[in-house]
Amino acid sequence: MFSVFRRKPAAVVAPDAGDGARPPDAAGDPTPLPGTTRRAPPTRLHRPKPLPELKRRWRGCLIGGAVGDALGAPVEFKSLEEIRAELGPGGVHGYLEAFGRFGAITDDTQMAMFTTEGLLRAYTHGALQGSVDVAAIVDHAYLRWLHTQRSSAPVQPVLDGWLVNETALYASRVPGATVMQSLQRKQFPGERPRNHSKGAGGAMRVAPVGLYCARLHEGMSDERVARHALELGAEIASLTHGHPTGQLAAGAVAALVALLARGRPLAEALDLACALLERRPGHDETLAAIVRARELAAAGPASADQIARLGEGWIAEEAVAIAVYSALAAGEFDAGVRLAVNHDGDSDTTGAIAGNLLGVLHGIESIPTRFTNGLELVDALVALADDLATFPLWPVGEFQPASDLSEHWLERYPAH
Ligand SMILES: [Mg+2]
Repeated sequence: MFSVFRRKPAAVVAPDAGDGARPPDAAGDPTPLPGTTRRAPPTRLHRPKPLPELKRRWRGCLIGGAVGDALGAPVEFKSLEEIRAELGPGGVHGYLEAFGRFGAITDDTQMAMFTTEGLLRAYTHGALQGSVDVAAIVDHAYLRWLHTQRSSAPVQPVLDGWLVNETALYASRVPGATVMQSLQRKQFPGERPRNHSKGAGGAMRVAPVGLYCARLHEGMSDERVARHALELGAEIASLTHGHPTGQLAAGAVAALVALLARGRPLAEALDLACALLERRPGHDETLAAIVRARELAAAGPASADQIARLGEGWIAEEAVAIAVYSALAAGEFDAGVRLAVNHDGDSDTTGAIAGNLLGVLHGIESIPTRFTNGLELVDALVALADDLATFPLWPVGEFQPASDLSEHWLERYPAH
């Protein structure tokens, strides 16, 4: 166990205590998501409720990403020709069986969930201590994810908080080699890898960074929020990916999500994200890929042929370009995620990023119930989205009066 972390017994919230998989209506929302079960709230605590506008976008982003991931998972290693031969000219239009079930998520969503957990634990740490290395705490969360993959690193994570007790996360869903190797070599959380990878493993997991920054800096300018999202998204990608493109493509996703979360139209968000990217060294490949995606989307109707011109999505800038193209060309959630998964390449990752963008842009109500029904871990995703939409209101920190609710949040998101 590393010395920077407070040693404490693993304070475990049992999943069946209810809070580990808080249903969407636990905070009083009368309209639970289709396909989820209504359960009694575990306590009488008066937890803050997300504002409706935040709730729809925050849930849309995380659940949208998971839907795109689950749609793409069964065809990740299939060519478009194979997909069409099997499913007809329209390709994937609903869940197919993967990993023994329908609606199975993959490592993309698993890691985005641990990104969210890490960000919220960074918040509680900062509230208690006054300063925080956000990336190191997110890295600690990734070491808990590594534990769910039944693997380990020289440094052992503390297995507390609620997320690591979600039993459905203990499933191997073809995790990326770069991410696994980088984490398996960690001597301490926050250590940077010795690789030059620009795989899409950073970009696929950082959408929550955009939501976090949008919430943290609510009163600030768009530019300030997007700049922080870009920097933090790139830094969090740098925990596993050494190439600037692997990092900046992730930063671009986080910046776009932050701006869309604040209600900016997609074209405006792209303009600002590109302007911020341009100021960062090593931006050429990422910026060029996004510009190309915009040009192709403006040139004609949405098509899989145009996606092929952007690459296959195994590398970061291609994955982001395909997601941006899909979001722009389709203009709505259903058609956009289907566009993003029906191609030759890394369908679950391009689907996940497109789903993040389209979900935050159009809100949870834009996601068809045939996708939310049966989506793996949907209750946990809703809980994470709602926590990420309320966190600055938690009574945690030296200037806040301590209460039962403080304990609740610190048990849920321990400050390390
Ligand atoms: Mg995957």
